[in-house]
Amino acid sequence: MTALLEKYEPVIGLEVHVQLLTQSKAFCGCSTRFGAPPNSQTCPVCLGLPGALPVLNRRAVELGVKASLALNCEVRGVSGFARKNYFYPDLPKGYQISQYDQPLAEHGWIDIREGGAPKRIGITRLHLEDDAGKSVHDGFGDSAKRSYVDLNRSGTPLAEIVTEPDMRGSNEAHEFLTRLKEILLYLEVSDCNMEEGSLRCDANVSVRLRGAEKLGTKAEVKNLNSFRFLKQALDYEIDRQIAVLESGGTIHQETRLWNTAEQRTIGMRSKEQAHDYRYFPEPDLAPLVVGDAWREEIRATIPELPEARRARFIASYGMTEYNAGVLTSSKAIAHYFEEAAKSSGDARAAANWVMGDVLGQLNTAGKTIEASPVSAPALGELLKLQSSGAISGKIAKHVFLKMFETGRGAREIVDSESLAQISDTAALEKIVAEVIAASPKQVEQYKGGKTTVIGFLVGQVMKATRGQANPAAVNELLRKALE
Ligand code: ADP
Ligand code: ZN
Ligand code: MG
Repeated sequence: MTALLEKYEPVIGLEVHVQLLTQSKAFCGCSTRFGAPPNSQTCPVCLGLPGALPVLNRRAVELGVKASLALNCEVRGVSGFARKNYFYPDLPKGYQISQYDQPLAEHGWIDIREGGAPKRIGITRLHLEDDAGKSVHDGFGDSAKRSYVDLNRSGTPLAEIVTEPDMRGSNEAHEFLTRLKEILLYLEVSDCNMEEGSLRCDANVSVRLRGAEKLGTKAEVKNLNSFRFLKQALDYEIDRQIAVLESGGTIHQETRLWNTAEQRTIGMRSKEQAHDYRYFPEPDLAPLVVGDAWREEIRATIPELPEARRARFIASYGMTEYNAGVLTSSKAIAHYFEEAAKSSGDARAAANWVMGDVLGQLNTAGKTIEASPVSAPALGELLKLQSSGAISGKIAKHVFLKMFETGRGAREIVDSESLAQISDTAALEKIVAEVIAASPKQVEQYKGGKTTVIGFLVGQVMKATRGQANPAAVNELLRKALE
């Protein structure tokens, strides 16, 4: 298909649903906690019982506004809720409360970087809505199958973020979703847990001849519940559409499902149009007013965002773009690094240690940085011991592993294991003399002009001191003794 990708250009727009991190649901007081026994977190409102009235959750609005502002959107002073009608067993009201012609926010963007120059991806809108419940399908014995409905999720607040059709390949879509998720996590507006469905992504895909202005007919691909599936499904769908067009066929506007097992998209239904939903204004909710003062109050709670933090790390610590990317990949990692840099007084060493040993050990142990047995100040203490020459680099690695295993402090481990570096000249001179006496062959080689053999002799001294000798001091003492 590579040759055909020179002929056709893919066009992609994403629709992303994120669950907002509120304690209670969008229009009632029920808990939003994940994993509770089925139907234990429900009330007349989220069960859709007749006569129950919704009351808007203020926190959900705040989180929606916070996300909108961080995504460079204009927030409407007055937005409105509408009923989006459709039938589904896990939608007891028979409609979702959503926003239609007056969304909370519009006209935003995110800058992505995919293979070089930055590229701006437009965000059409961000609107609020409530989630449906969940249908759970279960096999019983080897014959009957049953379906259950769990309404714990019913009424959970969502933000739907819709992009412009600005992406031109699966890599850009992947990059966009990565950046979006990163921003939402920094904002703490959602936990973005894809396995638990807190971040869900549908992809709209079309292809057109390169140079053509008019967009091709799109298909909407659903069920993309991981970054990997998003990329695989897009690549498959792009190839499929090109193949259809190349064989003289036409693309039909439809909804398709990504089938992970078969590694292909499968047509599900022809796409419903807006009028199929019979949108009308929600009569039970007043217009949503977000005044300037409230909006600015919310803006003030936005932390430094990943892109700004990357730029600052590059400028103030002189690190590479790659390192800045790793060290800002989560707010917790960035915070950890800065704490360790501050307490050790050596940002370069802190960066190397966090990216190497710390993230490596956490990865092996399957732990997040929040749960690191070695805190940032504790790492800082270790780095200070190393930079002051109290312990060697090799011993520092050993001490770090001990700290990670036991949670004990660097100083404590160094003292209890007598690991302090030996810089004491008298003590070292004695060991140097012993090594020289025990290595007549190497000494002869050295004197014969093969000075590189000093490496061997340094190694012997390090071995004799279990890595505790100060290598620079050993080097100097050896040279002196040999000359
Ligand atoms: P619909 O009315 O079918 O919901 P919208 O115009 O609201 O379509 O767009 C929904 C999503 O599809 C947006 O993310 C938009 O960027 C994307 N989109 C629209 N047209 C195309 C197209 N021709 N190819 C790819 N994506 C598209
Ligand atoms: Zn409820
Ligand atoms: Mg639409």
